[in-house]
Amino acid sequence: MPTAWGPPRKNARKTKLPVSRPCLYARLLLKKFRESPIFTSLKAVAVRFKTNDNTNSVGAKLRPTENKTTNDKPQPASQHPLAAASQPNAVYSALQTLEKSYAFAYLQAIGTSRLGHSIPCLAIGSGAKEIMINAAHHANEWITTPLLLRFMEEYIRRHNPEITLHCIPLVNPDGVALVTGGIPASSPAYKAAQAMAKNHPVQLSQPFPASWKSNIIGVDLNSNYPANWPQARQNKFAKGYNQPGPRDYVGPQPLSEPETCAMVAYTKTHDFALTLSLHTQGEEIYWHYPGHNPPQEKEIATKLSQASGYQLEKVPDTSSHAGYRDWFIQTYNRPGFTIECGLGESPLPPGDFERIYAKLAPLLWAAVS
Ligand SMILES: [Zn+2]
Repeated sequence: MPTAWGPPRKNARKTKLPVSRPCLYARLLLKKFRESPIFTSLKAVAVRFKTNDNTNSVGAKLRPTENKTTNDKPQPASQHPLAAASQPNAVYSALQTLEKSYAFAYLQAIGTSRLGHSIPCLAIGSGAKEIMINAAHHANEWITTPLLLRFMEEYIRRHNPEITLHCIPLVNPDGVALVTGGIPASSPAYKAAQAMAKNHPVQLSQPFPASWKSNIIGVDLNSNYPANWPQARQNKFAKGYNQPGPRDYVGPQPLSEPETCAMVAYTKTHDFALTLSLHTQGEEIYWHYPGHNPPQEKEIATKLSQASGYQLEKVPDTSSHAGYRDWFIQTYNRPGFTIECGLGESPLPPGDFERIYAKLAPLLWAAVS
C-alpha cells in the first residue's frame, strides 16, 4: 500500500492501476477494468479535451448553440458515452471492478430502488473517521455520477488511511436510467413518467425526459427526508408542485420512497463526521441549516470554497427543508454540504465534464484531507 496520499502532483508520471500488484492476477483485473464501460467512456472524453480541438469534440457537438449554422439536430445528451456509463448496471460493474482491484474497497447495495435497481455504495479504506459523498439524488443531474466515479478512481490510488470514505454515486438509479436512455420508451415505467410530465400543471423547460429530476414514480428524493417536511410540502405546493411529477413533489409522507429510506438507514448504521451531496448546478456550496451550528461547519465550508472557487450560500427558507443535507444536520448536528457542480442548465452538457471536474476534484480532496 502506498504510504503517501493526497491529490496527484501536477507533473507526476501517471501511475498504472493497480500499482501494488504486478502479478498476473492483477494484470487480468487491470485488463478487465480497462474494458469496463466507465473506464472507456471517461478516457474517451479526457482524450478529446486534451486535443483542445473543441470544434470536433463530442461536447461541442452537444451544445445547441454551436449547431446554429446547420440543420442537424443536436445529439441528445443521453447518447453520450458518459450517459451510458452512468446507468445502473454500468455503475455497478465499474464499482465491482474497483472492489476486486483493491483489498481495502468494500462494495455493497444499501437498498433497492422502485424498479429493483441496487443502490450501490463503495467504502474505501478502513480509517476511524467516516465521510460520505453521494451523487445523483436528482435524475437530470446525472453528470454527478461520473464525476464522483472519476474522483473515486483517483482517490482509491492515494487514499487517506485515517478515513473510511463511503461513496454512493447513484442515489436515484431509476431516474438516471430514465434520463440517460436506459429505460425503453415502450416500457410501462417510461410511459407512466411521460404521462405525469405531460399532465403536470408546471411544465418542464426541456423535452421529456431530459429535465426529469424525480424518482421513477415522480417523487423528488431530495424533498422526501424528515427535516421540516411539512414546511417543504407547503413551500412546494405553493409553487404548484402538488402531485407526482418531474420535480419538486415531496411525496405522500417523509421517507415514502425506498431510495430515501436506504440513505437514512445506511447513515444511521454509520458514524459520518461529514457528508457531501453532489448536485448541479451553480458552482455553489449550500451550507448551514437554520437553528443548528455544527462544530467546524464554517471552517470546513470555507476550506471547500477556497479549494474550488465555489461560493458559499445559505439556502433560502422557501426552497430549503426535507433534503438529505437538512436531515443529516438536523439529526446529528454535524456538517453536511450540498455541492452544486458546474454552471448552466441541468442536465449540464456532458462535454463540460472535464471543466467541472477540474474545479470539483480539489474540493473533494479538501473534504478528505
Ligand atoms: Zn439537485
